Amino acid sequence: MPDRKGGCLCGAVRYVLNGEPQATAICHCTHCQKQSGSLFSFNLFVRESDYEQQGETRAYEDRGDSGEPSWRHFCGRCGSPVLTKVSSLPGLVLVKAGTLDSMEGLPAPQTEIYTDRAVKWLEPFAGATRFALSP
Ligand SMILES: [Zn+2]
Repeated sequence: MPDRKGGCLCGAVRYVLNGEPQATAICHCTHCQKQSGSLFSFNLFVRESDYEQQGETRAYEDRGDSGEPSWRHFCGRCGSPVLTKVSSLPGLVLVKAGTLDSMEGLPAPQTEIYTDRAVKWLEPFAGATRFALSP
């Protein structure tokens, strides 16, 4: 996935991913549902050093089941969720795949997490390992 570009809806926040994602995961947790306004999020686990951003995001400090903080970064102008930083995953950023400019060559999800909270009529993603909660 060389020189992969993306950004928020209005273009105030832009980024480039310089390396391959370390992992890919669908998250069905209620917080991802709320923040995305949709049924799940698709996150690319990218090394912080591979993530280059232009423009400022705002951050909402969230707390998941673990009680550990995570920071959900979004565009302060258009509200697009762009990435999440999780305290238990230092050195990684979780980029919201829906903000990529192009989905061509996008890797498929390797895992699905919080499937307990997934909407019941949604079929499992082929080839993805499912976790009822967090792995
Ligand atoms: Zn924006």
